[in-house]
Amino acid sequence: MSDLLIKFAANPATAGIVKMLGLPAPIALARSDGAYAAQPFSGKNVLLGRSKNCYAIENLRAIVLDAGTSPLDALPEDENAGVDILLMDATGCADPAGLRVLYDFFHPAVRRISPNARVFITAALPSEASNPVAAAAARAIEGFSRSLAMELGMRGATVNLAYVARDAVDRLAGVVRFFCGVQSTYVSGQVVHVTSRVAAPAAFPASAVLKGKAALVTGSARGIGKATAERLVQEGAQVVCLDVAGASEALHETCSAIGAMPLEMDIAGPDAPRRLADFFKEKFGGLDILVHNAGITRDKTLANMPGHYWDMVVDINFAALTAIDQVLLSEKILRDGARIVCLSSISGVAGNFGQANYAATKAALIGYVAAQASQLADRGICINAVAPGFIETAMTKEMPFMTREVGRRLNTMRQGGIPRDAAELVAFLCTPGVHGISGDTIRVCGQGLIGA
Ligand code: NAD
Repeated sequence: MSDLLIKFAANPATAGIVKMLGLPAPIALARSDGAYAAQPFSGKNVLLGRSKNCYAIENLRAIVLDAGTSPLDALPEDENAGVDILLMDATGCADPAGLRVLYDFFHPAVRRISPNARVFITAALPSEASNPVAAAAARAIEGFSRSLAMELGMRGATVNLAYVARDAVDRLAGVVRFFCGVQSTYVSGQVVHVTSRVAAPAAFPASAVLKGKAALVTGSARGIGKATAERLVQEGAQVVCLDVAGASEALHETCSAIGAMPLEMDIAGPDAPRRLADFFKEKFGGLDILVHNAGITRDKTLANMPGHYWDMVVDINFAALTAIDQVLLSEKILRDGARIVCLSSISGVAGNFGQANYAATKAALIGYVAAQASQLADRGICINAVAPGFIETAMTKEMPFMTREVGRRLNTMRQGGIPRDAAELVAFLCTPGVHGISGDTIRVCGQGLIGA
């Protein structure tokens, strides 16, 4: 669904009216419709900053060079030259005075930041801090990065933070490429944890990263699932799109458009786990990527909610997913090194009026990935959740006009995301290069203000 406000704000003939009415003037976000590039930072101004005693700086420098450019240690002398990517290694910030480097680095740079720029900060993992003050200083960086994200969002710029364990600095490459790349366009104000707890994969390429991998995306006849399937195909995966028989026509259309294999199935059917195990064993000898995307809403206030609304939502959004994992994991259909991604929601983070059933299931998935991550680490499997905010899909199209308009604007970027934005984050979490991140929930919500 198109957002007329973005078009009006971008058109010189109507931009003045948007301003006069005091409406937000959202910027057109930069997006990619292709696969990952081998050198995505080529031609970009990348400014690299550091705190005293930081420990990720040499890794960050090498990553930037490998991604196609030499990092700058100071702002370009030409005052008209913008900065496209700002990387700050704040892993050495261990006391209040040490935080001053954030001000010193970002204050002069902030007016030079280009539209759709990327800011990425690394900080020490608070649980590794040698004392409570150092842990507090690391946590301070979270408040800083989320606030800066709010100040830059109207320019389409994003700000994200990674807490990095000392022994996991060699796992930053894929993470930096994503959070500093065009693919993370609607992901801002987020915090990820990069650790070495998951067994590392063998060497992997920077592009066509999923070549030869077998992938399943549930609920992929349309919406976020369809965009995800398309994105995984672009990276070389062999993708199976699953949806209910009622969505058969759309499912087959999607599959022939993107080059995927259709599978009609209700994930909440009693035989679904068995059928999936048999299917992937026979067709692919196993499964490398599992995206639990299928989900439904049955909204009512609790007082008005019929029992079957509760049951349907819990069965499809939560019970079906864990039943499938149980069989695919115990029978090792999900191979060592696999990636699992669960679609949660900001309703699961913050709760939502009239969505007690839905929010319960989406919060369950946040707890599920956090608990499963340590169980699966020895097998090299990463499991994470993605929590979309307002994404323009059939699900959000059904909202009443005013609710939709408010939902769409209640974020730092003043606009909804598109399915591709959510798909980019899911696809990133399916790559081998995400081996430092497991058990996290990342929002793709333009830094939605609800539950922030
Ligand atoms: P959508 O309704 O457009 O698509 C969901 C798909 O899942 C449909 O094709 C549907 O047929 C399929 N499905 C439903 N029940 C199924 C079942 N039992 N078995 C197999 N397939 C089934 O939804 P969407 O907006 O693309 O959302 C995708 C996921 O993202 C969902 O889990 C949703 O809860 C979550 N999410 C979406 C938004 C948003 O703004 N669109 C926000 C937060 C979370």
